Amino acid sequence: MGILTGKFAIVTGAASKNGLGKATAKLFAEHGATVAILDLNLEQAIEAASDLGPQHVGLACNVVKEEDCQAAVNALLEKWGRVDILVNNAGITQPLKIMDIKGANYDAVLDVNLRGTLLMSQAVIPAMREQQAGSIVNISSVSAQRGGGIFGGPHYSAAKAGVLGLTKAMARELAPANIRSNAICPGFIGTDITAGKMDDTMYAKVMEGIPMGRAGKADEVAGCALFLASELSSYVTGSEVDVNGGSLIH
Ligand code: NAD
Repeated sequence: MGILTGKFAIVTGAASKNGLGKATAKLFAEHGATVAILDLNLEQAIEAASDLGPQHVGLACNVVKEEDCQAAVNALLEKWGRVDILVNNAGITQPLKIMDIKGANYDAVLDVNLRGTLLMSQAVIPAMREQQAGSIVNISSVSAQRGGGIFGGPHYSAAKAGVLGLTKAMARELAPANIRSNAICPGFIGTDITAGKMDDTMYAKVMEGIPMGRAGKADEVAGCALFLASELSSYVTGSEVDVNGGSLIH
């Protein structure tokens, strides 16, 4: 018996091979959960889900689109009858300076990171309310807490700070229905979101700011997501948990 045995979990943006979402989906499956991987591309989502085992599901879902979020959750409710866990992991970033942020940059970054978190949460909350149980885990960033300083621009910091506010407000509103809402603030984790996009100077500067002296691994964020998704954290709600090697100690 795993700690997630009998639980049904959705992880958004989890098709990326080296990403935090895939690592989280894999760890959840290893601990007994049945997992749905939602991502932009259907084939990639199905492939990622089948890596975890035959009972897991891959679905296409652009989290920016309300109809996609509703359709994915409806399909899963039809199949599973319940949803216990939602991990809002889908996200994009852009390394822009303040004066270079155009409307389209703002829309893209705010939409995927913040609107997507809202829309997916809205899609699962009615079922979680009915069950009187649920855990929502939102992937924010250390950039929200310290104003960037790694890769993403100010619009990314703002979007991820918005995720923290949303996480806490949902925690307050949904607590009476026994639905918990928490955020993870990863520091610098080696994934495709920055792969090949940082020069040596930029990378060295980021490393200097990490007391543990190394980038984090996707599995190390997944471990925290497992804790927050499971009953191990049954009295934890509205929290922001740092997974950053000491790059922000506060
Ligand atoms: P990644 O680029 O490897 O994965 C992101 C995934 O999100 C991709 O599979 C992509 O297809 C998917 N996605 C993008 N837009 C989407 C949309 N509209 N709908 C559905 N899926 C969409 O990145 P990652 O590093 O694994 O990032 C995962 C999350 O962690 C993101 O929210 C990111 O902002 C956050 N984060 C990452 C780091 C880091 O250092 N890697 C640090 C802090 C926070």
